[in-house]
Amino acid sequence: SKLTKKQEEEIMQRAKALEENDIADLRKVSRQVYLQKRRDQKLLEIRDDIIDHEYIFEGVKLTDAEERELRYKKKIYELAKEHMDDSDKIEEYRMPEAYDKEGGVNQEKRFAVAMQRYRDSGSSDKMNPFAEQEAWEEHQIGKASLRYGSKNKKLSSDDYQYVFEDGIDFIKASVLDGTQHEDEMAEEPNDSAAKTMLEKLQEERKSLPIYPYREELLKAINDHQILVIVGETGSGKTTQMPQYLHEAGYTKDGKMVGCTQPRRVAAMSVAARVSQEMGVKLGHEVGYSIRFEDCTSEKTILKYMTDGMLLREFLSEPDLASYSVIMIDEAHERTISTDILFGLVKDIARFRKDLKLLISSATLDAEKFSDFFDSAPIFKIPGRRYPVDIHYTTAPEADYIDAAIVTVLQIHVTQPPGDILVFLTGQEEIETIDEILKHRTRGLGTKIAELMICPIYANLPTELQAKIFEPTPEGARKVVLATNIAETSLTIDGIKYVVDPGFCKIKSYNPRTGMESLLVNPISKASAMQRAGRSGRTGPGKCFRLYTAYNYENDLDENTVPEIQRSNLANVVLSLKSLGIHDLVNFDFMDPPPSEAVIKALEQLYALNALNSRGELTKIGRMMAEFPLDPMLSKMIVASDKYKCSEEIVSIAAMLSVGNSIFYRPKDKQVHADNARLNFHTGNVGDHIALLNVYASWKETNFSTQWCYENYIQVRSMKRARDIRDQLEGLLEKVEIEIVSNPSNLDAIKKAITSGFFHHAARLQKTGAYRTVKNPQTVHIHPSSGLAQELPRWVIYHELVLTTKEYMRQVTELKPDWLVEIAPHYYQLKD
Ligand code: ADP
Ligand code: MG
Repeated sequence: SKLTKKQEEEIMQRAKALEENDIADLRKVSRQVYLQKRRDQKLLEIRDDIIDHEYIFEGVKLTDAEERELRYKKKIYELAKEHMDDSDKIEEYRMPEAYDKEGGVNQEKRFAVAMQRYRDSGSSDKMNPFAEQEAWEEHQIGKASLRYGSKNKKLSSDDYQYVFEDGIDFIKASVLDGTQHEDEMAEEPNDSAAKTMLEKLQEERKSLPIYPYREELLKAINDHQILVIVGETGSGKTTQMPQYLHEAGYTKDGKMVGCTQPRRVAAMSVAARVSQEMGVKLGHEVGYSIRFEDCTSEKTILKYMTDGMLLREFLSEPDLASYSVIMIDEAHERTISTDILFGLVKDIARFRKDLKLLISSATLDAEKFSDFFDSAPIFKIPGRRYPVDIHYTTAPEADYIDAAIVTVLQIHVTQPPGDILVFLTGQEEIETIDEILKHRTRGLGTKIAELMICPIYANLPTELQAKIFEPTPEGARKVVLATNIAETSLTIDGIKYVVDPGFCKIKSYNPRTGMESLLVNPISKASAMQRAGRSGRTGPGKCFRLYTAYNYENDLDENTVPEIQRSNLANVVLSLKSLGIHDLVNFDFMDPPPSEAVIKALEQLYALNALNSRGELTKIGRMMAEFPLDPMLSKMIVASDKYKCSEEIVSIAAMLSVGNSIFYRPKDKQVHADNARLNFHTGNVGDHIALLNVYASWKETNFSTQWCYENYIQVRSMKRARDIRDQLEGLLEKVEIEIVSNPSNLDAIKKAITSGFFHHAARLQKTGAYRTVKNPQTVHIHPSSGLAQELPRWVIYHELVLTTKEYMRQVTELKPDWLVEIAPHYYQLKD
């Protein structure tokens, strides 16, 4: 587009300013011109987009998501138009402030150097309004390609692409050896259109590293009852072995092959894949079973499930008679449930000689598994991996979220095609980065290649989970934002770049205080190597670690501590007791939990009346064991029988189980959102009752989506709560608790809650902080709580979260004499 006369004049004038060394000023002007051009182009794009949308969907009923998208686009368009003549106010299209924040002098100098270099190169044109931008960009890209050794050094000047907010310096420090070399790279299978989907999938199956070992494997399984199997992530252990076993006849006479996964998403996604490969409907021959969701049927012969679900199956079938093979997959993850399964299946294998056990792991320290299972043979599937370059930052990064975003954009602009995988710690973080990346790339127009952002985490709705496996469209680049799930559980093809901030959320438990918390922690070296390896599956890869080589060497542990050694064991002890395993000390643990933690768990279960003084399961305990919930929550549910409010309590339990994603606060509507939220809290009823009010109101509107929008409530979370609630209601029936509603008696409801959560009582101090009653420590009411302003004298809380302070989340007022009434053995009256 042409510049106006006036703009040209202005630039001429400013060019003079440049000669007077007035660089900063020029930057401002040319930036404005640039921004204006950009914005106009963007506006047209958005408008076209809206027209397209309306055209496509004319006369068709829109889904919620489509409608929301359309509304969103219209809104942007309106906003952008509104500010048409007010370019300064459009934050979105401004150069990010951070560009300047590094400190004038340094940045200025950097810029001047770039400018000088640019002019020296002879390609500068002082009349070019974009000269400054280009110079700076050139400089940045030059830097980046030096850094990354990129081949496409120069981007032509009108192919204006992207301005880095601030680059991150990496140094290449080590290489993860591969077994393959670039010249051996597998030929892409010839995608002839004549081939059916099923044929293609069969071909893909044959190209997996495990395939050449199919016969040998089956023979080994035939010859040995227990086999340890080790192979790189992606070699085909999870998807292929159960199919091989099926093909070899292990599912004849109606027996199943069961395969456990530590993660829900993995169980679902792998089952979906295998059902495709076998050309059957998910839930028929191939199914999955995860907490609160059973997708299997009479027909099911290959069953993927979480390790926790198999553990629960022991309750109804202690010899696992319906299975011919149990495969404990991802054994290296060492979750509590997997660790307990080890002990249980080892025991069963002794008296069920026909049962085959496969223990599979992605890491090479398989000796430990072999030792535990009486020296079971180890079958190694030779890995197939290309070399991976490992890059470290030259200095520690203060904000790894920001660093991850910058690195992704850096890769996107400077690196050859190939998808990116970023490891993050959880849903919130993933959503934040997703939003920021979308926002930033949206501002950059069409000249930057499309960046397809795919989040993956446990609570992501199933429809969206499949997106990470979709092939990346031509010319675009996919960036997968994943939790640890992508470390070994899921293999995503096409990943060439891994961004590893070096953190994950892990549960830690202090047996002294009985406090369990989920904290962001540095990963182990073993994890870091696994993460790096994800980039070398289909060709040579690169891993960008957002920490220094020194950090790696000195600050990371070798291996992650097994979960059982850092958790509250109340749940484990309750499950074992309900399986009839009383002698916890002599249970065959691969790594026994600290005895302190076992004792603490016994104490807690005793206090909850789940165990009697001889340590035996009580009637209450047996009922509690039926619920796949934390013992405190199950106790609350069981106690609702006594207080005649089971209807309300299962709603509360379901809402609490969904976690922290019920309410949302859009940045521009925080006040509205907060007000909406407080509406559920009228009369300072406390957060538990507020959750109940949310659920009940939603139900009253006949589960309306619109209602959720109006009240700043996430409809997705509500639907999940409804699912969970249905199942809890089913379990109530099973333990013969009548479903009784008592909505007006709030004290009864609060007493039922207290019956489960009396351990979590806290008392207000003169300072305005709270002190927990048992194992005293100072805590605060979370600012999001409806009681945050109220500060009742006594409260109980659902959980503690540690952010800047130790906060209590989901808080309800308590009358202290309830403690004595409900848990007399735990609290005594002192006057
Ligand atoms: P392993 O268990 O040894 O890590 P898998 O059996 O999970 O290996 O994976 C084998 C292959 O199947 C990989 O190439 C992976 O990309 C593919 N695959 C697995 N799950 C899916 C899925 N849900 N969608 C598409 N491809 C998948
Ligand atoms: Mg696997």
